[in-house]
Amino acid sequence: MNKEKINFGTKAIHAGVQPDPSTGAIMTPIYQTSTYVQNGIGNHKGYEYSRTQNPTRHTLEKALSALENGNYGACFGSGLAAIDCVLKMLNSGDEVISTNDLYGGTYRLFTTIFKKYGIKFHFVEMNNAKNIEKHINKNTKLIWIETPTNPMMNIIDIKATVKIAKKHNVLLAVDNTFATPYLQNPLTLGADIVMHSATKYLGGHSDVAMGALICNNPTIADEIYRIQNSSGAITSPMDAFLVLRGIKTLHLRMQRHCENAKKVANFLAVHPKVNKVYWPGFQSHPNHHIAKQQMRNFGGMISFSLVGNKIEDAHKLIENTQLFALAESLGGVESLIGHPATMTHASIPKQERQALGIVDSLIRLSVGVEDPEDLIADLTQALN
Ligand SMILES: *Cc1c(COP(=O)(O)O)cnc(C)c1O
Repeated sequence: MNKEKINFGTKAIHAGVQPDPSTGAIMTPIYQTSTYVQNGIGNHKGYEYSRTQNPTRHTLEKALSALENGNYGACFGSGLAAIDCVLKMLNSGDEVISTNDLYGGTYRLFTTIFKKYGIKFHFVEMNNAKNIEKHINKNTKLIWIETPTNPMMNIIDIKATVKIAKKHNVLLAVDNTFATPYLQNPLTLGADIVMHSATKYLGGHSDVAMGALICNNPTIADEIYRIQNSSGAITSPMDAFLVLRGIKTLHLRMQRHCENAKKVANFLAVHPKVNKVYWPGFQSHPNHHIAKQQMRNFGGMISFSLVGNKIEDAHKLIENTQLFALAESLGGVESLIGHPATMTHASIPKQERQALGIVDSLIRLSVGVEDPEDLIADLTQALN
C-alpha cells in the first residue's frame, strides 16, 4: 500500500508498529530493561542503553511521527520536558516570540528557568498573525505557538505564522496538544516542530504523563535526539506502552469529543445563566474561518463565563457537577471541569488575567466521551 495515502484511523492503529521480531507478539512488549547484551565490541542490535534507545519508546516515536506526517519523533517524561528540549536548542542572547495566552506551565518554564540563562521572551497577541512580525529582530530564533489556546480558545493562523518564520529564518514550533494530529497537522502546514503533551488526548485515559516532539528536518532531529540523550528526560517503557495503546483509539475518541463538545457548546450558548461561550466552532468566534481552514473539527475544549461574573457562582457550579470532575488536565475519556482563575492561571496577576479574558466566572470544560445527554443533564442541574 502507498503509505502516503493511508487514512488517519488506519494509521492510528498500524503506523510504526510491527509484530515483535523475537516472538511475533502483535502488541509491542514493554521492554523493561536498562541495557542490552552486545555480541561483541561495537556489534549490537541497535540498542545499547535505555536512556538512548528503547524498543517500546522507539515504536511509539515512529507511530507518533507517522500521525503528524513527520519523519522523526522523540518522547519525553512530560510535555514540559519536551518543551524544555526545544528551548535547549537555543543559546544565551537568543529571543523567542510566543503567544500571550500560553499554557501556564510553558510560561513558567520560559520565565523562571530559561530567562535566567539569558534567553529573552516576548509574549504577544497573535489573533492577527501579522502582529508577530514587528517583534522579530536579528536575535529571534524561535516562534512558539499554541492553537487553540488555553483557556480562551483563541485560534492562531499557522500558515500565516509559517510565512513570517520562513521569511526571517526563524524556527516555528507548534504545541498541538489541544487539537491532536486527528484535527490539525502543523508540519504539513510548514511548521518546523510539533510538540504534544501526550498526557492529554494522545494517552487519552488520564493514566500517563508524557511529552513528544515531531519534526521533518534531519538536522533538527539530530539536535532533539542529542538533547534527549544528554539531558535524559525520557519516558518509561511502561508509559510508552500505554500511549501506544491510547493512540489506537485516538480517531474514535476525538470524533466523539468533537461531537459532544458541539452539543455542550450549543446548550451553553442559549442558557440564561451563561454569559459568553468560547468554542472555535461558533461562526461568531473571531477566527472561526481560520479554525475551519487548519482544523478538521473543533475539538473537545470549551470555556464559558457566567452572567453576573461572580467567582462564588463559578465555584458553586463547579462543586455541584457530578459527572464533570473537578480536576486539572484535559483530554481523557472522562469529562473534567476547572476554574482557570483559581487553578491553572492563579499565578498570573489578576489584571493581566482579566485583560486576557480570564474573568472570575470563567469555567473550562474538557468534554469527555460519555453520552452527551448525561453531560448536558449534569450541567443543567449544576447551573440551576
Ligand atoms: C498539559 C499541557 C502542557 C504540559 O504538558 P505536561 O505533560 O503536563 O508536562 C503543555 N501544553 C499544553 C497545551 C498542555 O495542555
